[in-house]
Amino acid sequence: MAQSAVPAVPASDAAVTPVPLRELAPWAVFTGVLMLVLLYFVGAEQGATALFEGETVHEWLHDGRHLLGFPCH
Ligand SMILES: [Zn+2]
Repeated sequence: MAQSAVPAVPASDAAVTPVPLRELAPWAVFTGVLMLVLLYFVGAEQGATALFEGETVHEWLHDGRHLLGFPCH
């Protein structure tokens, strides 16, 4: 008899319990805010809207800006 690499799991232990939306929502909001902050830094952190002086942040994100098609130079 061929032996499987995947250990056998009794059907009663293999039940998948869905994560309730109420527990998922705060993480979804947190991730959304994080993504918006990232989008801000890649897309708008320059010139009049810049939070940090100088070109450092702009230069760090320059390739991402061009990759995503944001107007740059
Ligand atoms: Zn550029």
